[in-house]
Amino acid sequence: MGYDGLEADLHPPDRLATAARAARSAGLSALLLTPGPDLRYVTGYDAQQLERLTCLALPAEGASAAPFLLVPRLELPAAQASPAGRLGLEIVPWDETADPYALLAGRLGPVEQVGLSDQMWALMVLRLRDAFPGARQALASRALRGLRARKTPAEVAALRAAGAAIDRVHAQVPGWLRAGRTEFEVAADIADAIIAEGHARVDFTIVGSGPNAASPHHGASDRVIAPGDAVVVDIGGTMPSGYCSDCTRTYVVGAPPREFTSYYQVLKEAQEAACAAVRPGVAAEAVDAAAREPIAAAGYGEYFVHRTGHGIGLEAHEHPYIIQGNAEPLLPGNAFSIEPGIYPGPHGARIEDIVVCTEQGFERLNNATRELVVVS
Ligand code: ZN
Ligand code: ZN
Ligand code: ZN
Repeated sequence: MGYDGLEADLHPPDRLATAARAARSAGLSALLLTPGPDLRYVTGYDAQQLERLTCLALPAEGASAAPFLLVPRLELPAAQASPAGRLGLEIVPWDETADPYALLAGRLGPVEQVGLSDQMWALMVLRLRDAFPGARQALASRALRGLRARKTPAEVAALRAAGAAIDRVHAQVPGWLRAGRTEFEVAADIADAIIAEGHARVDFTIVGSGPNAASPHHGASDRVIAPGDAVVVDIGGTMPSGYCSDCTRTYVVGAPPREFTSYYQVLKEAQEAACAAVRPGVAAEAVDAAAREPIAAAGYGEYFVHRTGHGIGLEAHEHPYIIQGNAEPLLPGNAFSIEPGIYPGPHGARIEDIVVCTEQGFERLNNATRELVVVS
């Protein structure tokens, strides 16, 4: 697998035990993890979410049952070949006509409260409810959230590689942004480059030009880019490691609207102020406030309509959220975006970097220039 950071470091063998201990602390009898980021975090297995049940049953620390990974028989070779095959974990195949829910319940034994992976399909949640009558269902994040939010050095290395890959894409964007091209055409070039620069998957390619720049989650459209447009380009993908990139730069094509240039400077300073506020012990909401204050002081507060950032890792959006009301103190290893925006219309701007909270302060994982890039 091509990523910086050793596979063994990304999926340490004690992760199962760590997760089992966290389950116990959270008051859960067991974790039940179907394919998705929780399963990948705990075992390294990047399984597809399909209608056939794949499920890690991980009893809480101190329980008598042993953990096992239940997989459809036809996916047994894939499961064995994944990092999960090297954890000393029993992999239990179920046959095509068997009832995997009954098999799971029989092997795991009685449970009082199970933690289900947050992104488990309702199809499985309801069948598990029937398979464990009387057991309460809770979210696995009760146990896993704190673990997943504090990245190990190997995870930071994987995020750093993702950041460098998306920076290389942004470096090419000025060559694709031209008056007369559509947002779709530019987004297609960006998508190709996201893969060419080392991602396994394209997650999003926002190209918001002109009035669309004032719509933070615009996407891309058949709008033809015109001289004088500001263009918000917010792009990201997933690396072969499973870790995500996410970076926004705002470009201008030709001479921008006069007001744009002044609020872009305010935005750049706000983004820098928020990054500079990051260090262990600082509340997540204080970082949000650090971004908001200079924007409000310049009179643009009402146009900054979203939170300052979100955690990132095996998911593009995860804990911790950098938002008013989140008083959680930042901890070393927290990785999240700092992405203030100003959207007065009929134009707008956003600047986004991923940062990691370090022992002393912060490290930016995106280093493409934040100076306004004007393409002719
Ligand atoms: Zn977003
Ligand atoms: Zn973004
Ligand atoms: Zn983001």
